[in-house]
Amino acid sequence: MYKIAVLRGDGIGPEIVDESLKVLDFIADKYQLDFDISFGHFGGEGIDKEGCPFPETTKRIIDQADAVLLGAVGGPKWNDAPKRPEAGLLELRQYIKSYCNVRPIIGFEPLLDMSPVKLDGPVDICFIRELTGGIYFGERGFNEDEAFDVEKYSKSEVQRISKKAFEYSKNRRGKVTSVDKSNVLSSSKLWRQTVKEISKAYDSELNHMYVDNAAMQLILNPYQFDVVLTNNIFGDILSDEASVLAGSIGVLPSASIGDGIGLFEPIHGSAPDIAGEDIANPIGMIMSLAMMLDYLGYKAIYNDIYEAINNTLKEGYGTIDLKLDRHITTSEWTNRLIKTLGI
Ligand code: NAD
Repeated sequence: MYKIAVLRGDGIGPEIVDESLKVLDFIADKYQLDFDISFGHFGGEGIDKEGCPFPETTKRIIDQADAVLLGAVGGPKWNDAPKRPEAGLLELRQYIKSYCNVRPIIGFEPLLDMSPVKLDGPVDICFIRELTGGIYFGERGFNEDEAFDVEKYSKSEVQRISKKAFEYSKNRRGKVTSVDKSNVLSSSKLWRQTVKEISKAYDSELNHMYVDNAAMQLILNPYQFDVVLTNNIFGDILSDEASVLAGSIGVLPSASIGDGIGLFEPIHGSAPDIAGEDIANPIGMIMSLAMMLDYLGYKAIYNDIYEAINNTLKEGYGTIDLKLDRHITTSEWTNRLIKTLGI
C-alpha cells in the first residue's frame, strides 16, 4: 500500500485535486491497488488554518508518505501576509530535498492547433532541470553602482542531476541533450565535462547544445529532443518556452524529486480568476497523478491515463480554455475521462 500526502492548496487547487482523486479511486478499483490518502493544510489554507504556509502537522504527514500530490497555492487574499503561500512551495521542495525538476512537455493530438508553433504531431520532450544550485542560490550582491549573482556548480551536483537525466532516458527514446554555454561560462565547462563522464555508464546517446541554439531549436524542430538536461536557470527559461508547444498551460504536469519521495503538481498556478466555477482544466493535475503512479512503478497505468485523456479530447470534449467543439465543466470532463478509462 502506498501512502499519499495530498495538499489541495488554494484557488482551483482543491477542485482539480478532488477530480484527480476521483481518477485515483477508479484506478485503485480497476487495478486492485491500495492507496492511503492523508490531507495536509498548505499554502493560503495553511496560513488560514494553522498560521503558516507549511505547518508542522503537514510535515508530519509528509514524513509518513511515499509521494506528495499538490494542487496549487496563492491568491490575492494573502498578498499582504507576512509569509506568502508561495513561500511554502520553496520550503516543501527543500524539506523533501528535491534537486531534480522533471517537466515533461507532452502534446495531445487534438490540441495541436492551439500551439502558436506549427506542429506536425504531438511533441514529447522531458526537461530534467537542476533545482537547488546555480545562480538562483549563489552568492549575490547589490549596491548603487554594481550588482552580481554567482553561477556555481560542484561536480557532485552535476553528477547527480546527470544520472537522473540518463535514468529517465532509459525508459524513453534513449537520447539526452545537455544544454550549456560552455563556449563562455566556466560553470558550463565543468557541466559539459561531468555530463560526458557520467554518460559513459549509460547506453543513451548524448549530445551537447549551447543554450541560445537550444532556445531556437525548440521552436524550429522540437522533435529532435527527447530528454533535455539543464542547469537551474536555463531549465527555468527553456521549459517555459517549450510549454507553449502543448497548447495550454492547463495540461502540463511536473515533478520535483531527489533521492527520496517525489512531489507531483501541475505547472500552472491557483488561477484565482476562475476558482470555484468548475471550469478549470483538470488535465495538468491528472497528468501529475499519472506521473506519480509512474514514479511508484506503474508505467502501464501512466500510459493508460495518457491514452484516455487523448481519446476524451478526440471526442471533442474539453474545458473552456481548449479549442474544442464541446465545452463541459471540470467535473463532467473528469467523469468522461473515467468512462474512457473503463473501456
Ligand atoms: P496561473 O497559472 O494561476 O494563471 C494564469 C492564467 O492561466 C489565468 O488566466 C488562469 O485562469 C489560467 N489557468 C491556469 N491554470 C488553468 C487551468 N488548469 N485551467 C484553465 N485555465 C487555467 O498564474 P498567475 O495568475 O500568475 O498566478 C495566480 C496565483 O498562483 C498567484 O498567487 C501565483 O503566485 C500562484 N502560482 C502558484 C504556483 C504553484 O502553486 N506551483 C505556480 C504559479 C503561480
